[in-house]
Amino acid sequence: MKNTGGIIINTFEYILQNVSKPQQYIGCEYGLKKEELSADAIDGRLKFMLSFPDTYEIGMSNFAVKILFEIAESIEGVLCDRAFIPEDDCAALMKKIGYPLSSLNYMIAAKKFDVIGFTLEYELNYSNVLHFLDLAGIPLESSKRAECDPVIIAGGSACVNPEPMADFIDVFFVGDGEDTLREICEVLIESKKRGDDRAARIEALSRIRGSYVPSYYQAEFDASGVQTGFKKLKEDVPDRVKIRLIANLDEARHPVRQMVPNFETVFNRGVVEIARGCKNACRFCQAGFIYRPYRERSVENIKGLIRSIFLNTGYTEFTLSSLSATDHPGLGELIDYTLGLSDTEEGFKDALFSVSLPSQRISTFSVELASKLSKNRKSGLTFAPEAGSQRMRDVINKNVTEQDLYSTASAAIDSGYRLIKLYFMIGLPFETDEDLLAIARSISRVTAIAREKKARGFSVNVTFSTFVPKPHTPFQWAVQAGRDEVFRKQSLIRNELKKHREVCMKFTRFDTTLLESAFARGSRLLGKVLLAALKAGCRFDAWDGKLDFPAWQEAFRSAG
Ligand code: SF4
Repeated sequence: MKNTGGIIINTFEYILQNVSKPQQYIGCEYGLKKEELSADAIDGRLKFMLSFPDTYEIGMSNFAVKILFEIAESIEGVLCDRAFIPEDDCAALMKKIGYPLSSLNYMIAAKKFDVIGFTLEYELNYSNVLHFLDLAGIPLESSKRAECDPVIIAGGSACVNPEPMADFIDVFFVGDGEDTLREICEVLIESKKRGDDRAARIEALSRIRGSYVPSYYQAEFDASGVQTGFKKLKEDVPDRVKIRLIANLDEARHPVRQMVPNFETVFNRGVVEIARGCKNACRFCQAGFIYRPYRERSVENIKGLIRSIFLNTGYTEFTLSSLSATDHPGLGELIDYTLGLSDTEEGFKDALFSVSLPSQRISTFSVELASKLSKNRKSGLTFAPEAGSQRMRDVINKNVTEQDLYSTASAAIDSGYRLIKLYFMIGLPFETDEDLLAIARSISRVTAIAREKKARGFSVNVTFSTFVPKPHTPFQWAVQAGRDEVFRKQSLIRNELKKHREVCMKFTRFDTTLLESAFARGSRLLGKVLLAALKAGCRFDAWDGKLDFPAWQEAFRSAG
């Protein structure tokens, strides 16, 4: 292996020849700007690595990564590159031959970057962050990092409770990332020019609004080990971290180059964020609370973005993304505009444009919308009634009625849809068996509507998640249902629906729910658990079939 100023060549080819899906490690996607830079020129820049702690297929589909990459890359003096988590075969080979985790485009070892930023959106990705640092040869714990190690930062929705990751992240940033990222880069460029040491760089970052440096606060616990508060270890650090917010989405930068991945990723299409936040306030929903207030992009702004993304990438399939897309008043016009691009764009009259929405809110979905979406449909429609009885929907503040669900299903079937996906949540606070039976009755009624309409081949895919009390929601202190109780609830529903062959049920694994819950509300003590879990080989815990729950149990035991 030859290493020139951190640029690693040669051995890489050997790795590519010996791993599955090597395309995910080569970068150079369509739409990427890669400069020819000497090692000195690279060293003169602020080297910023962006990472999503999962594989390329998932990370490249993440919208935050798309936004942040295009912002960082556009800042003068910054060299921005990406790295994701290698799959197990590649990670094992890298370890065996001593090849450190490196960036995708410039093939610079992660350890040589000035700063590495993780997007943390899901608690079950935490072990992947440690796995990443381990593969990069960077000390896992902030307190053990040396002067030459990068500053490790993190942002994203999971950072609203940063404590389980407090031992590993030098600086967290809470809230919208666009302006924050620009300030981070500016601060670090100046810091690098001054020749600041690592501590001074972290201190400079701590002055950015929305930042939280865990090492400036000592966690305090009561006799039972429950974290009760913090003692400030520095005079001038804030008592409370203030979240960053973008006031006007139309003025916020939106990614329009959107690199086209080298192979099929989870969402390989153009994405336009039409709104941020949610007008509703379902009591279990963390996203609904932490992304407040609700903000929309204007229809004209969105149309411009769709067209630019199409011209830059060639994507003809678009996701109009938001927590509750059907709440956007211009949605119908936007769908018409996108589907009509084949008429308005010269030379594309044969192109088949399509629009997908992450999920459709039942009360704002209409027959008209169903028929617009059905023009170029590829998959089914997705709705999340969450609860089966009106009583339970009132408890969780889900502002839909049973009739809304039936009218929506009816409209979808009339528009030709033969697959409806429904999401329900079980184990909610104050839930009774009657509420669960009401879920089964609702699903049963949807299948009856399809039969009445003689909709041949109709099916319903139902996903049942289990309630996890999340911080910063009205249900944050609610008790979580235990394993036996959740199994009993699942069986009750399964038995009620087993006669419906057109209903396909999927239940979230309880072990996943339990782990998510522990990290969502847990304290700094979980840092020890994460270290033990990494040693036991835990990673990709969010993947079906990858969660090694006995290893996690052992990690909790060994961490005391
Ligand atoms: S409508 Fe959806 S995104 Fe909005 S608060 Fe309810 S569950 Fe959350």
